[in-house]
Amino acid sequence: MGLEQRILEAIESGREELVELVSRLVAFDTTAREVDDQPRDEADLQAYLGDRLRAAGATVDIWEPLPQDVAGSRQMPPGLTFDGRPQMAASFAGSGGGPSLLLNGHIDVVPSEPRNRWTSDPNRPEVRDGNLYGRGTCDMKGGVGCMVYAAEVLSRLGIRLRGELIVNTVTDEESSGAGGLAAVRHGVRADAGIVTEPTAFEVWVGCRGSLSPTITVEGRPGHAEMAQPHWREGGAVNAIEKMAVVLDGVRSLRDEWRGRPDRRHPHLSPSDIVPAKISGGEWIVTYPASCTLACELMYLPANADQDGWGTRVEAEVTEFLLRRSAADPWLAEHPPRIDWGLDIPPYEVDPSLPIVTAMLEASDAVGEPSRLSGLDSWFDAATFARFGDTPSIGWGPRDIAWAHTVDEYVPVDDLVRCAQGLALAAVRHCGVAE
Ligand SMILES: [Zn+2]
Repeated sequence: MGLEQRILEAIESGREELVELVSRLVAFDTTAREVDDQPRDEADLQAYLGDRLRAAGATVDIWEPLPQDVAGSRQMPPGLTFDGRPQMAASFAGSGGGPSLLLNGHIDVVPSEPRNRWTSDPNRPEVRDGNLYGRGTCDMKGGVGCMVYAAEVLSRLGIRLRGELIVNTVTDEESSGAGGLAAVRHGVRADAGIVTEPTAFEVWVGCRGSLSPTITVEGRPGHAEMAQPHWREGGAVNAIEKMAVVLDGVRSLRDEWRGRPDRRHPHLSPSDIVPAKISGGEWIVTYPASCTLACELMYLPANADQDGWGTRVEAEVTEFLLRRSAADPWLAEHPPRIDWGLDIPPYEVDPSLPIVTAMLEASDAVGEPSRLSGLDSWFDAATFARFGDTPSIGWGPRDIAWAHTVDEYVPVDDLVRCAQGLALAAVRHCGVAE
């Protein structure tokens, strides 16, 4: 029997074991955090995977990053620490002469609320009708289990790769990407990377970046039940109504972007800006003195500045909204203030890279699509590609459209095919020692 056939059969016959592995991962509570939240079961999960991979022959590094390890990045929220949230990298040394491969996944999952709508406990996974249910089965403990299992099976079959194989699990993807950045700055890298997010087995070759502008409009308070003189005579100005001018500008900008060729991408949706949170007013009988609008803005790799960040987009949005607002006499003299918070930078890789071809072919070999795609949101591959010198793609089980849902699940067949596809991609990319 050929080598690849042996791999496929070993993983197929290990189906129960693979489900058990993913179930163990789901049972650890690794709910994503606010900056100040106490750690949950992150260290236990990383230790569990580290023990397994060490037993399979890997050299395992589990470390707790220091805050300064991720300092100086506009991607990082201030005050972030990693106490109780270690990162893990397991290295299977290559025999030499082949390119190295990084398999990466995040262990944090979004909150399970509203828990009472789940058919079964989100942290007690169970198989129903061939699907494994539980928080994180889709995004992305399923993918993490598959990459670990693929490495274990290669080791068990005595297959020595020419290039190094690294299995890396990180925290904090759902909140900030801090775990991935800490891993990159710790030196986790390879000649290519696969992040096993739920891509519906399409090969993601890029993602959009995001900015989160907060726009504040000032009004002038006054008695809301009294007729007001013109504002030039000292009358009140309603900040909420002035924000309507800004909202109109945001909508115009979005429409303009949708029609512009430089906001298009073969695998990603156009740039977008979405009003997400608004608050204004102080008292029911008082004209609102200020109104604040928070937006979520997605931008394409081509719109990033020369260092890959969103400063050009920020300048464009600021100029556009100030110009639109200036048509209003009050706003012309009291222009909106725009505060730019975090910048989560986009990325893309050249679709002609060998890892892309290897993954497309491995996907086809396990009966899944052989198709290029991209992620409109963001994932850790951007960090490895942009800052870690590791051109990275996404490929994994289930579909991100079904991530973060009540009764989240991954089909067991998807898990088997994912582990198979990853093992084939590793063999083909890294080469096999004689
Ligand atoms: Zn994810």
